[in-house]
Amino acid sequence: MQEHKTAVSVFWFRRDLRLEDNHGLYRAIEGDHPVLPLFIFDTNITDELPADDARISFIHKTLHSLNNQLSEHGSALFCIKDEPLAGWKKITEKFDVKAVYANEDYEPYAKSRDNSIHDFLKSRGIPFSLVKDQVIFEKAEVVKADEKPYTVYTPYRNKWQDLFREERPAPYPSDDMHSFVKLQFRFPGLSELGFRSSGIKVPDYKLERIADYAETRDIPALAGTSRLGPHLRFGTIGIRTLVKKAESYPVFLGELIWREFFMQILYHFPHVVDQNFRPKYDGIAWRNDAEEFERWKEGRTGYPIVDAGMRELNSTGFMHNRVRMVVGSFLCKHLLVDWKWGEAYFAEKLLDYELSSNNGNWQWVAGTGCDASPYFRVFNPTAQQQKFDPKLDYINKWVPELDSTGYPEPIVEHRLARERAIRAYKKGLL
Ligand code: FAD
Repeated sequence: MQEHKTAVSVFWFRRDLRLEDNHGLYRAIEGDHPVLPLFIFDTNITDELPADDARISFIHKTLHSLNNQLSEHGSALFCIKDEPLAGWKKITEKFDVKAVYANEDYEPYAKSRDNSIHDFLKSRGIPFSLVKDQVIFEKAEVVKADEKPYTVYTPYRNKWQDLFREERPAPYPSDDMHSFVKLQFRFPGLSELGFRSSGIKVPDYKLERIADYAETRDIPALAGTSRLGPHLRFGTIGIRTLVKKAESYPVFLGELIWREFFMQILYHFPHVVDQNFRPKYDGIAWRNDAEEFERWKEGRTGYPIVDAGMRELNSTGFMHNRVRMVVGSFLCKHLLVDWKWGEAYFAEKLLDYELSSNNGNWQWVAGTGCDASPYFRVFNPTAQQQKFDPKLDYINKWVPELDSTGYPEPIVEHRLARERAIRAYKKGLL
């Protein structure tokens, strides 16, 4: 006798781990079948990560809470760990899948994964719908009058705001709990998935901070930023809901627009993933001194603000934006280490790691990117510290041995490093 399979529409959670204001989920709910909520721990990604990766712990905790919400209504999350195509073959054998919905992901790996899943589902006659969710404007929605992409932030922001005033996308009512299929699945523990809990936790975001954001955002000791990074990365808040709250705070809104600016740069110029945005910088002879790079990573450069930032990153998975700029500039210019080394280290450590933002900002500090800081602008770490941490509140927290003999001498003298950087950049310009 043939086993009866339940007819479902699948909603595939990826970087949108919430039930509220979720566009793809809303579309699935609007469809003709009960919705099977699915998450796949993608082994192509997880195999590259350490077992105690803090982002995996956060994803697992968030999924657990989603599963609890679903269980209260007689449903459950179907959560597996697999290579996506292999996983989808099993899913289509287990269920009578009528349609698949997901939110679009614009990173190169995600695009190629979705293409292959699309082809597979098509071969089984199953439609796969991808919709816009993680941004207000995607792909080529914000372009110049001649339809070319913007490569400078300010005109991009102006156009973004013009379009936003016309469209104002509202949050999606996607949390109708009656639409989920009434099936039970056991939710896997972290260790069953091959991971263990990380000591680093993702803090909750602090939306109340956006009220004073314009005044406090540049002072690392004040913790005046929203800490939304990982929540935007993994979609534990919907962008439409957020922008609605951010609308009256233009400085803060401007940062959310930077996020979309770099996303569209990655979309239009995918070469930035492993090349300079501006090829004329390809000739820079990086020193790439491995020992100096280690000292930078460990926070032992002898420049207190650089060391404080790196230690904050290593201990918490977060670093304040002002300090990210200082440590990034220091690595590329003072030490003449290729920005790709710094980018890769941040990708490993940051809870809010986002390919487009990390790449865009690293290329910005290195001077190789679109709308980048000019190459001859070399941040003076001491002047930055005097301006943004004058009482050493931030530095004392992370570098308690500052005044002791245990603290290293500067790895390089600022004036010499600055001149060396300008020479190397000038020489390397093609
Ligand atoms: P807030 O200041 O409260 O800003 C709110 C949100 O706006 C952020 O969460 C982020 O989504 C967005 N945002 C703010 N500043 C930027 C910016 N300059 N570029 C793009 N988006 C921005 N941000 C990431 O999200 N992921 C990264 O991997 C990342 N790497 C960076 C690397 C370098 C070298 C530098 C200089 C910056 C990087 N940033 C990155 C940008 C910025 O530092 C972080 O977004 C911010 O510090 C996160 O803290 P928050 O959520 O409290 O930000």
